[in-house]
Amino acid sequence: MRSKNIDWDKCYDIDFSCPYCQGKDNDECEHCNNGRITTMHNCVYPLEYAKLSDDNKKIAISCGLFMFEDELGDRWMSLIGNGEDFSPYILKAYRLLESYIPPEWGVEWRKNYHSSLSEKDHILNAKACRVSLKDEISNAQRKLKSIESYLNEPVVKKMESKEWV
Ligand SMILES: [Zn+2]
Repeated sequence: MRSKNIDWDKCYDIDFSCPYCQGKDNDECEHCNNGRITTMHNCVYPLEYAKLSDDNKKIAISCGLFMFEDELGDRWMSLIGNGEDFSPYILKAYRLLESYIPPEWGVEWRKNYHSSLSEKDHILNAKACRVSLKDEISNAQRKLKSIESYLNEPVVKKMESKEWV
């Protein structure tokens, strides 16, 4: 799971319509321009589990993120908000939409994000980051154990001694 850069001008199939304005007479709100979401950056973040429903799109927007599907059917988030550091909101969006925070975002947690989010959201983000980082540690430990046992196998030891002779 990695972020990637996107060229919005070449994305003809993406639905930029605002989930708050759809089907309403006045087709503009605080989140959009003429019913259309405006993205801020070329970087997009992958989603694995969240379905592209209006409710989920609204959750994403409440975190300052635009949720969309590309031509391959993959789903992504991109930033629409202003501010210095978007990370606390990205953590929150992953927590709410995917029910977990990816480990690479888990390490983004900072004590001072408290000023960006409500106390409750900050604590929930911290707890979700703790879970994903603990999982990451146990995955790394499992891999390390497997590598250690491979390197300690008699055949590998033989080859190793040959190599250095
Ligand atoms: Zn709108």
